[in-house]
Amino acid sequence: MRLVILGPPGSGKGTRAKIIGRIFGYPVVTTGAMLREAVAAGTEYGKIAEGYMKKGELVRDDVVIGIVEERLRKPDVEEGFILDGFPRSVNQARALDRILNKMGAILDVVMYVTAKPETILSRLSLRRSCPKCGAIYHLKDILPKVEGVCDECGSKLVQRDDDKEAIILHRLEVYEQQTFPILERYERLGKVREVSGELKIDEIPGEVERVLKGL
Ligand code: ADP
Ligand code: ZN
Repeated sequence: MRLVILGPPGSGKGTRAKIIGRIFGYPVVTTGAMLREAVAAGTEYGKIAEGYMKKGELVRDDVVIGIVEERLRKPDVEEGFILDGFPRSVNQARALDRILNKMGAILDVVMYVTAKPETILSRLSLRRSCPKCGAIYHLKDILPKVEGVCDECGSKLVQRDDDKEAIILHRLEVYEQQTFPILERYERLGKVREVSGELKIDEIPGEVERVLKGL
């Protein structure tokens, strides 16, 4: 199964991607996390990506496409994968077609996650993340067992620079302008299945099974 998860920042793509990965046993390829790792490690790609990410802009297509292409060459994704956060521009969607073509594979589904603007803003502004393992918390809905400390690895939780109010609003604009338009092309191909980003976490597995049944 080859799946793309698409939706605005804060719609819950990452949470859903992890659940789907767990249910079906396919690797989740998360460009945001890969880029943050590259920045933390100070690689060439990371140095380029950092400036864009801080501002809430999309990282240059050639960089992101390069990272994804490299990742999809690994043997663990031969049977399937879940793309979380890619493609995010028309150029990236074209690149994905090309990459899949080379693999002799097709994309099965684009899962389109929608959520109300209030939900998105609350999720992003109250989100706290673990800088080490990437685990995500929310000051009201998903509290860690010990305040400010990651349940998974014990690191101190932080607010991502791009989860500050002004940058959040810009990321939403970037989504509308650059990412939303790629839905149309997948709609024409009949690949899109819309799901609600408003569901509670424990409601997601049931919905996923229903939407992806038969794949
Ligand atoms: P969110 O989906 O909440 O915006 P992500 O962790 O997916 O959070 O992305 C954070 C940032 O990483 C984006 O604002 C962007 O700068 C960069 N990024 C992630 N994926 C891509 C991509 N496919 N193309 C360009 N930039 C990306
Ligand atoms: Zn952690």
